[in-house]
Parts: sequence; C-alpha cells; structure tokens
Amino acid sequence: MQHEIDQYISVILNEWIPLRKSLREDTVALLSQIAECESEKLTSKFYDSMLKDPDTASHLSYELVQVQLSRSLIKWLKAVLCVKTDELEPLAKQQYHIGGVHARIGIPIQFVQRGSRQIKYGIYQYLKEYDADRAVIFEVKHYSSMAIDMAIELMSHAYAMSHHRATQNEESYRLHVLMNNSDLEQGKQQAALSSWENTVMYDLVSGARNTESLISLSSSGFGLWFRHKCVKNFGEDRKVSEIRQLIDVIDREILGIDTSVELEVKKTQELLRVIHSNCQQIHMNLEMLFSDASNMKDGKDALTNLLNKRYLPTILKHEVSLAIENKLPLSVAIIDADYFKKINDKWGHPVGDRALMHIAGLLGDNIRSSDYLFRYGGEEFLLILVEAGEFDARTSLERIRRTITSTPFEVLPGETIQITVSIGYAIHNGHPDYNLLLKNADAALYTAKGNGRNRIERF
Ligand code: GH3
Ligand code: MG
Ligand code: MG
Repeated sequence: MQHEIDQYISVILNEWIPLRKSLREDTVALLSQIAECESEKLTSKFYDSMLKDPDTASHLSYELVQVQLSRSLIKWLKAVLCVKTDELEPLAKQQYHIGGVHARIGIPIQFVQRGSRQIKYGIYQYLKEYDADRAVIFEVKHYSSMAIDMAIELMSHAYAMSHHRATQNEESYRLHVLMNNSDLEQGKQQAALSSWENTVMYDLVSGARNTESLISLSSSGFGLWFRHKCVKNFGEDRKVSEIRQLIDVIDREILGIDTSVELEVKKTQELLRVIHSNCQQIHMNLEMLFSDASNMKDGKDALTNLLNKRYLPTILKHEVSLAIENKLPLSVAIIDADYFKKINDKWGHPVGDRALMHIAGLLGDNIRSSDYLFRYGGEEFLLILVEAGEFDARTSLERIRRTITSTPFEVLPGETIQITVSIGYAIHNGHPDYNLLLKNADAALYTAKGNGRNRIERF
C-alpha cells in the first residue's frame, strides 16, 4: 500500500516540480499576492458551494467544523499556490492525509472537486480585473489551476484507497480466502515447515549435504507459500515480518555452510540449535496469525469475548453520526491496565490472561447495555459511552476504576493482588472525524499514566 502511495506521489511530483521551477518571478509574486489577499474570499466560495448541497451541509453545519475547516482550507490554498520546490514533497504527502480525513468524515470527493472549481473561477475573476503582463496572467492561471488539480488528484487517490479499505473489500476477500479451510491450511503449512526442518537436520547430521547442497527455507514449499499466500492473506502484519526475518536468519546460516568440507560436531550442533529454535518461533507466529484471523472473523476477541477492533471504525462512525444528527453527547474512553507486564513477569502469561478476563468481566458488569466495550489492544480496552457527556462519563469511569482497584484478583488459590487501571477519555466535540476521539482519548490516557496511574484524565 505504502509503495503504491509513494509511486503515485512521485508521478505527480514529476509533473509539479518542473512546472513550479519554470515560473518566472512575477508569477510567483502574483500567486502569493492572491494567496495573501484572496484566500479568505475564495474559501468562502468553496463553502458556499458545499453548503448548497444538503448532503454535505449536514457535515458542515457544526460551527466548530466550519471554523476549523475554513482555517485549514485557507492554509491549504496558500500552501498550494505558494509552495516552493523543496516543499513540494511534504505538501504532496499532506494531500494524502487530507484525503484520508475526508473519507472518514464522509465528504465525497466530488464535493471537493466542485468546491475547487469555485476557487479556480474566483482566481480567474480576480485576474480579469488585474492589470499585468499577459504572459504572467496566463502563467498564474495555468499554474494555479494545475496545482489545485494535482493536489486534489492526490487527495482523490487517498480518498479512493481509504474508501476501499473502509468498505473492507480487501479484508473480506482476504478472510474469505483464508477462512475457507483455514485449519487445513494451517496444518498443511506447519507440516511443510516441519518437513523442511527434518530434511535439513537429517542432511546435516548424515552428511548428505556433501552430495546435494542444502535447500534454503525460502525456496522450500513453505517459503513459496509464505511469499505468495501468507503475505497476501494476512497483510503486512508484525508477525508476518517477524517470520520473514526468521527465514532470513535461517537461510543465512544454511547458505553460509561450506559443503566441500566436513563440519565439526560442535558447529553442526550449533547450527541445528539455531535452525530448530528459529523454526519454533516461526511455528508460534503462524499459530498466532491463524488464531488472530479466526478471532477477527467474527468480530470477537477470543480471550475476553469482547468486541475486537474489527468493527470499531463502523460502530464509532455510526455513533458519531448519530451524535451529530441528534445533538447528543458521546464519550470514548481507553482503559489500560497499569504495570501489566509485571503481572506476566511475576506470575506467568496464563495468569496474565486470567487477569485480562477478570478486568474484562468487571468492565462488562459496570457499563450500560447500550455502551460498546472493545478489547482495543493487549491490555487496553476501549469503551464507547453513548449519550454520555462529562458528568455521566466521569461517573461511570470512576465507578469502573474504583471497582477494579477494590476487587482483588486471585493469582494463586488463596493469594490475591490488586490490579489498577489508568483511563483517558474524550468527549465528542461535534467534529465528524471519529479518529479524533480515539486520538484524544489516547492522549488523555498518556497523561493519566504520566500523572501516576490508577487515575482518570479527560482530554
Ligand atoms: P503501563 O502501566 O505503562 O501501561 O505498563 P504496562 O506494563 O501495562 O504496559 P506495557 O505496554 O509495557 O506492557 C503491556 C504488557 O501487556 C506487555 C504484554 O506482554 C502484556 N500483554 C499484552 N497482551 C497480552 C495478553 O493477551 N495476555 C497476557 N498475559 N499479557 C498480555
Ligand atoms: Mg498497561
Ligand atoms: Mg498498554
């Protein structure tokens, strides 16, 4: 995905950079004059055209959005018209960010195009009255229109990709491919890996490697599956890249063997150990990949039985729209267990798992049935408190924090420890981008951790 984005950006830059370089000084001066003096007027033309349409108007009616968006649109226009050659790359990347935001907020790209037409028309009108060299006027017209178009083209690309992701075409395809016979697939690939390992080990020990050079893991049946199917089906997951690194480590060892001389016993043993332990780690990563995918499929987290992140964007987007349309409050909280690593380190991973189930149970007992509770990450939970403003959110979260702190967790029969959590929450401020709520709740959580943990902070 990133590769595709970079490639697209470079295509546009190849057009934009020479165009920008070719501008004469008078043109650059006039462009910045337009940006300085006319941006506000041009921006309001953009909004006027957007507000005429009931579809987009509903997204823009909120005052804060208008103020925020107007401000960023003015900044955008100034940046696009006055960008220097060496600032073009960051500017191009920023268009991607903007396109992604539009996709989340639900501002269709055609509305942005309609608005940009108004801006261009505004610039032409301004130039009609302007007394300057015809060649300069032409260049300003040409450049401003091209620059706006290129920026919007980048945005559209980002928008289309985001939208595509949002509709989860790719994911459902991936899961479809994967989940049809996923158990069978997992078994087959683990067997392929084991079979490669056994063959190599046998060859090394028996000395068969002298007659036939050892086959690397990446060119084995497992290696082929990994490159072609695993990466495609699971996406660029952290576990996938870990497997890739493990394969590399193993293959470097194998390819480093000089097949013409006999290996010392000690060296052989060391080699066997490296191959075995790396293969074990590949097995573990594979198991996790398949089990994550199968949990993702039904939208539930297997350990806690809470919702997993799969439907978070859909649900949050829906709740944010409801809040805006019906002028209802909405809060989002992230709840993170304090010093959880210490529990694992001291009592072991299975006890850590039980502790997570314990926290999940207490959370579930202390929310309303209309709220949404997610396992957000390892030891992090996310709570969407519908129709809850500052007072209700604070009260619920305080109850949750107190309950967790005061309910002992049994690590061993008869031995208990106290678990605490830190909570960060944010209240919806009318902004249609649901990501902002997540970002703000996360920032508040960071503050809660910094302020000593076992506490609640609001963004
Ligand atoms: P902090 O108070 O800053 O949040 O400290 P922390 O130790 O809780 O945070 P950190 O992010 O350093 O560590 C989180 C730990 O949670 C590390 C990881 O091993 C553990 N963890 C994550 N997921 C699971 C899980 O599913 N089961 C178990 N047992 N542990 C998990
Ligand atoms: Mg933690
Ligand atoms: Mg954490």
